[in-house]
Amino acid sequence: MNYVHGDLRDQLAFVGFDVVQAGLVVGSGGNLSARIPDEDALWVTASGTWLGRLSRTTFAPVRISDGSPATIGSVPLPRVEPTSEIALHLALYRARPDVNAVIHLHPQTALLLDALGEHIRIVTTDHAHYLGRVSTVPFRLPGSIEVAALTAAMAADGTDCLVLSQHGCVVMGDSIELAHKRARYLEEAAQLTYRALAAGRLENLRDSPEEFLTRLSDPTAISV
Ligand SMILES: [Zn+2]
Repeated sequence: MNYVHGDLRDQLAFVGFDVVQAGLVVGSGGNLSARIPDEDALWVTASGTWLGRLSRTTFAPVRISDGSPATIGSVPLPRVEPTSEIALHLALYRARPDVNAVIHLHPQTALLLDALGEHIRIVTTDHAHYLGRVSTVPFRLPGSIEVAALTAAMAADGTDCLVLSQHGCVVMGDSIELAHKRARYLEEAAQLTYRALAAGRLENLRDSPEEFLTRLSDPTAISV
């Protein structure tokens, strides 16, 4: 309701500012994109950009069908190189026509848990509602066609939240706002899981109540 309106690049810039402010990532630890309505194209962060300092000039337009530079509107844009992880974004939009925003971050707690061999627990009703399930993609080199193809294959069944082992996470949604919420809740779930682990109580950490999960499966029965 009170989310950033208007240009998709302004919305993505807010995501970048917020995730750095929230301590999810350091500097340029990730890349963001959004599908441009009625176009075979997306906006994606330029190579090497600092996520806390994004602006309209730090996004590249790229054609989804073939990965070539896209032309948006009649005014030529300054040419910037898309992120080196562009293949990951393209593969996800091709595999998931329902997805309009992809947020790839290198969030500290989610990655620490992965490196410790622990999965992120779904603890609260927010985690269950926004994250659903979290899948882990086995390690492949960042920026490679292999990590893009494997992640897209694992997201094809509707999974919106994935951890790329020892690299980062990918969350997506039908809007930037929803993907943004998922990024924040994924790291919150990771933080709660890690705190339970550090306290030696991970085996006592309860999952989101079954009663709530049952109601979630009936979309007419709940609002959060
Ligand atoms: Zn990455």
